[in-house]
Amino acid sequence: MSEVQATEDRYSTGVYHKRGVTIVRGAGTRLWDEHGKEYLDCAAGMGVASVGHAHPAVAEAIAAQARTLITCPEIFYNDTRARLLARLAAVTPPGLERIFLCNSGTEAVEGAIKFARLSTGKPGIIAAMRGFHGRTLGALAATWDPQYRDHFRPLPEGFRHVPYDRLDALEAAIDDDTAAVLLEVVQGEGGVRPASPAYLQGVQALCQQRGVLLILDEVQTGFGRTGKFFACEHYGVVPDLLTMAKAMAGGVPMGAIALGPRVRAPQKGTHSSTFGGNPLACAAALAVLDLMEQQRLPERAAEVGAYFLARLQALASPKIREVRGLGLMLGVELREKVAPYIRALMERGVLVLAAGPTVLRFLPPLIITREEVDTVVACLAEVLQ
Ligand SMILES: *Cc1c(COP(=O)(O)O)cnc(C)c1O
Repeated sequence: MSEVQATEDRYSTGVYHKRGVTIVRGAGTRLWDEHGKEYLDCAAGMGVASVGHAHPAVAEAIAAQARTLITCPEIFYNDTRARLLARLAAVTPPGLERIFLCNSGTEAVEGAIKFARLSTGKPGIIAAMRGFHGRTLGALAATWDPQYRDHFRPLPEGFRHVPYDRLDALEAAIDDDTAAVLLEVVQGEGGVRPASPAYLQGVQALCQQRGVLLILDEVQTGFGRTGKFFACEHYGVVPDLLTMAKAMAGGVPMGAIALGPRVRAPQKGTHSSTFGGNPLACAAALAVLDLMEQQRLPERAAEVGAYFLARLQALASPKIREVRGLGLMLGVELREKVAPYIRALMERGVLVLAAGPTVLRFLPPLIITREEVDTVVACLAEVLQ
């Protein structure tokens, strides 16, 4: 074990499952470890590095803003923040033009839950089995996996879980206390499971009929990952509240909640964040939005993602149960545990994620090329032999 790893192990809580590699540098789709070994990165910092690692335009925007103004809480106005808010309002679905800026995915979900309760005056949140929404207590109450939740009881009240992709179950669960339905468009941590169009469209109609708000958690699927700027666009569904975070600011921590017209304006003072909307993160996000537009990254994710999916589907391994996904959010479900295969891929210089015990998850930078996809698939074929 290296000195770096010994130091981290000595002085951290040990709460993370660690891989025995020390990453010291990145560029585009590549990462390097302390021994100079190169990796093709299909983890992208958990789907964060969509424009690639250490992008010069993002680095430049951060540096320039850092020399100008790093912090400025929202009790003051700020020029960089104003530009970002206007740009975000233009890329969010129609009508979702009021935006609250925060610093992470879980914080975006917390905020969406709070705004839904404020708007409706009701407590109930219905979320889905296999759903993942974050680790702070409110978002955790909405998260399904009992292994994540059970240690931390009591959790906030008012949350229940229904099977994903089953409209009848959701319909039966909505009652007079329901404020909102909270769903991912493609369940990420829960195994890379896209919603069926009939389900998501049915959920939207049901929420409108019953006067319930629809919160879509696009923390993982947002910012081009699935081949549209937001995954709900594939379905023609517009939520009342939309959460985003991971790829938003090129790796600088940032999250946001967009509010639609059915959400009442929150009263002043009911929510806030010290770091929310800080100019540094806003500058990084503006650079990311420029790159998404200039390089047509959502379209690229659709094209290369379709190619990647087809190549994975063509793998004829008896170990594979199913291949699924949307754009460059792809899952390969095995008939056995994935941990040894993740290690074997890492030895061959390919980094991938898990999504539960038996699903390999690929969330590469959206700039990945077909040739790089071929390399990843060839390595996967080798390790699955
Ligand atoms: C990652 C994720 C979160 C939590 O984001 P953090 O930034 O880790 O708090 C919430 N929802 C979804 C769908 C996610 O994928």
